[in-house]
Amino acid sequence: MGVKAIKFGGSSVADGIQLGKIKDIIEADPERRFVVVSAPGKRFSADSKITDLLLMCKAQADSNIPYEQLFQVIEDRYNAISLQLGIDVDLSGEYEEILKNLNEGCSKDYIASRGEYLSAILIAEYLGYDFVDTCGLILFDGKGRLLSEETNDALSEELSKHERAVLPGFYGSRADNGEIRVFSRGGSDVTGALVARAVNADIYENWTDVSGLLMADPRIVKDPLPIEYISYLELRELSYMGASVLHEDAVFPVRLAGIPINIRNTNAPDDPGTIITTEGSYRDDKLLSGIAGKQPFTVISIYKNMMNKEVGFVRRTLAVLEDLGISFDHIPTGIDSLSVVIESAELEDHLDEVLAEFEQRLHPDEISVVSDIAMIAVVGAGLNRKIGAATKITGALSDAGINIRMLNQGISEINVIIGVDSPDFEPAIRAIYEAFTL
Ligand code: ASP
Repeated sequence: MGVKAIKFGGSSVADGIQLGKIKDIIEADPERRFVVVSAPGKRFSADSKITDLLLMCKAQADSNIPYEQLFQVIEDRYNAISLQLGIDVDLSGEYEEILKNLNEGCSKDYIASRGEYLSAILIAEYLGYDFVDTCGLILFDGKGRLLSEETNDALSEELSKHERAVLPGFYGSRADNGEIRVFSRGGSDVTGALVARAVNADIYENWTDVSGLLMADPRIVKDPLPIEYISYLELRELSYMGASVLHEDAVFPVRLAGIPINIRNTNAPDDPGTIITTEGSYRDDKLLSGIAGKQPFTVISIYKNMMNKEVGFVRRTLAVLEDLGISFDHIPTGIDSLSVVIESAELEDHLDEVLAEFEQRLHPDEISVVSDIAMIAVVGAGLNRKIGAATKITGALSDAGINIRMLNQGISEINVIIGVDSPDFEPAIRAIYEAFTL
């Protein structure tokens, strides 16, 4: 029999109704043996996530504001879940322990982790699976960095003793002193990936509340098509530009082990979702995987006669940014010109300083600044290998009357980056999407 590692996010474990769905999902496939769970998330948009409530308790405790009533809200949610599921677990000892630790000034990481901890105890009981705590198995160093290999060894050894188990997501502990450490928010995705690697899973199923990734942002494009296959690299490009379904650090462990990730929807379990693999969209030879974009960017263009003959010009330009601690996104170049494309938020109050340094260190003929530029990434493994792909993009934009301010094709194998004026951002995405899909 094969083995699947699966992770359910906050909305999938938010209440008894959702948990009923996850039970059906798990029982539908005996290979779904290792289950990672988040803390209960929002049941409706104005609701609170358990993790947020726990962090609020800690903030109140730190400011000597009574937090007992708020903690009662958390207890009530878990008690309601166990009542809805008809399971007999007494969590009162756990609540007491957490309250005692809160009183004694426990760490923020410890308190943040308790949502997943309680969730996993309940769900293990409901499914009849073993509960395996990740404290002592997912290991961090003193600086909070994951110790990947030590974690993999500890997790594989422990999980080899269990036929089926539920594990809490989001946290582990320091290898040197056992203190609880959490990943950044949304980190149960990372736990799921580590478990998948440790049990050498055939697939890592990540169950959430959307049927995988969409080819474009549904707030911009009406009913965009779902992405069936995507590579880790393509996913990275799209997430960098704002499309997000998975914690960034969740890719590394499974990619290393060659385990595909399948993003699935707990509320629509028959939808195939998106499969993330090494080959991605090569598989079905599609030109376009997806489109994403970000704004605003500022483009600083520097012109200088004979720039191309001036040794060290680019280094000196970038040294200015490095010295001021500013990161840039792109540097398109011409013969006698060079532009740096920087997220406007990075520049904040530094623009004048940057320009003064450029003047002083580069002695340019002219510098121009254009703010309010939007960058669009058109991502697809086939884009740069097929004749006509760029024409399709530029043609769509010209038909829509959109001026291209910047175009960067061919460096990465898998994307074309386009800069347009901010007001053209959404129409440009729609035009490109339609050119590739209609
Ligand atoms: N519960 C944590 C959060 O709200 C971790 C997670 O759900 O992945 O960020």
